[in-house]
Amino acid sequence: MQQRSFGTTQRAVAVMGQGTWQIEKDRKADAIAALRAGLDLGLTHIDTAEMYGDGASERLVAEAISGRRDDVFLVSKVLPSNASARRTISACEQSLRNLGTDRLDCYLLHWRGRYPLAETVAAFGSLQRDGKILSWGVSNFDVDDLEEVTAIGGPPACNQVLYHLGERAIEHAVLPWCESHGVALVAYTPLGKSAAMYDGTSAGSRALQQIAARHGATPRQVALRFLLRHPGVFVIPKAASIAHVRENAAAADVALTDADCAAIDAAFGRGAEPHSLPMG
Ligand code: NAP
Repeated sequence: MQQRSFGTTQRAVAVMGQGTWQIEKDRKADAIAALRAGLDLGLTHIDTAEMYGDGASERLVAEAISGRRDDVFLVSKVLPSNASARRTISACEQSLRNLGTDRLDCYLLHWRGRYPLAETVAAFGSLQRDGKILSWGVSNFDVDDLEEVTAIGGPPACNQVLYHLGERAIEHAVLPWCESHGVALVAYTPLGKSAAMYDGTSAGSRALQQIAARHGATPRQVALRFLLRHPGVFVIPKAASIAHVRENAAAADVALTDADCAAIDAAFGRGAEPHSLPMG
């Protein structure tokens, strides 16, 4: 699996990771087998959050990575309602217990809430000094939030944001900001919310199908690969089936041409710059 330097951490991290939102609702044995198959294929960036199933997703990840912790770039997130100076620490410690580990590779603020960023950043610094987190980042941050948090604590390791072919808003300002500040951009919901993007019922999906056919790939692989055309981008599709994990892993090997990217651009435009950052 191709790896890239993960933002300010400068650690080599797989471009294709694994999401875990709602994975606790899947058949447990399938979900664990899928995550393990993903690790075998090099999908070592695993994304979870205290919010997911109220800790159940983290506990399932703990089982999946048992005995393989050192292979994983493990990310979890603190809820904005817990992001005070004191509660960020206890939330992280609970996530570590859920995950059966002594450290997170990166700990994110899930989205901006009512606590001042300075409090959350101070807590991240304390967790880092204690070795409980190796880096910190943010999620769902627009450019003004990124500027503000950077002025407080330096640039975050990453900004995890909604990004798929049907939602390219971050390409206007957030992605350029992240690129120029060496911040990794992690695309969540990278497959989008609508199967119609892939099923041949729309002009866009037919364009994807044609490109996919030329590469011996699937439309979803083309969609994932398109997001990775920027050098600082990572994707974290969630899959609870081994077949899906294999398909997603192989997306990293699809070599899209400039003409393919132009055709995708024409079929799935960026749209106008929105007033506020879309969230999933
Ligand atoms: P996603 O990964 O784009 O899509 C997940 C859905 O696609 C699942 O139903 C999965 O089915 C299916 N799928 C996966 N691979 C497939 C394939 N090759 N063919 C057909 N279907 C496939 O959406 P997401 O879960 O919303 O986003 C990914 C991750 O990003 C989350 O799991 C979470 O970790 C993170 N996230 C973060 C935020 C945030 O605010 N920071 C918000 C949303 C998500 P199966 O499970 O049945 O395989």
